Amino acid sequence: MNLKEVEQALKQLASETEEAKKSQFFKEYLNIMSRFWDYSPYNQLLIYLQMPNAARVAGFHKWKQLGRSVIKGSRAIRILAPAKSRKIEDEKEETITYFRRVSVFDISQTEGKPLPDIDIEVKGETEGLMQKLLNFCQKQNLNVAFEDLREDLHGYAANGNITINSSKSNNTQINALLHEIAHALLHNTSELSKEQKEIQAEAVAFVTAKHFNMETKSFNYLALYNANQEKIMQNLKDVAGCAKTIINGTL
Ligand SMILES: [Zn+2]
Repeated sequence: MNLKEVEQALKQLASETEEAKKSQFFKEYLNIMSRFWDYSPYNQLLIYLQMPNAARVAGFHKWKQLGRSVIKGSRAIRILAPAKSRKIEDEKEETITYFRRVSVFDISQTEGKPLPDIDIEVKGETEGLMQKLLNFCQKQNLNVAFEDLREDLHGYAANGNITINSSKSNNTQINALLHEIAHALLHNTSELSKEQKEIQAEAVAFVTAKHFNMETKSFNYLALYNANQEKIMQNLKDVAGCAKTIINGTL
């Protein structure tokens, strides 16, 4: 695969991504996701300590608005929410900010209408490719483990260790592995923004998957990171270099 071909592939990816962003489904998805409020790092820690596998948390009423209800007997996750109160002292009114405990629940503690989900799974199997990629990882000193991860998590990479969700189809696992290999090769000591790292990793996965004649749903993934033609094309050199390393490494 030469640079020209990578460039063409990335242009195709960019226009597929733009289409995905325009879809009614995607607008609805963003609208719903924006209703989960952002938690401070402190509250994220509190959530993690009480439920390490929590995927999406919201309060009782927020879940109701989303068409789901909290299952009876579920143990609430306690976090702190800022609140204000006024007090009069020496004839001066003062506003005091304090924190009160509020209860939130993880999606696994609720039932009802499913939340919309961005589809990035592909079906089927590509014979022999997983083994070639695992051999490549070994040569690159990347450790790959397969684990039964949370449903919406396909894989992750940290410090030369890659973990892939073993409950997905073979082709979805390969897509995830290509994405995580790109993170491991490009971003070990990188200062790039999260958004740019994800665009690079998924663009590498797309280009290499295309080379191996595999289906991908990269456009959906990149739509999540608000990628556009400009943001995708500005990574051409890094993406092409990394894709080449992977493709040559599996020959
Ligand atoms: Zn990623």
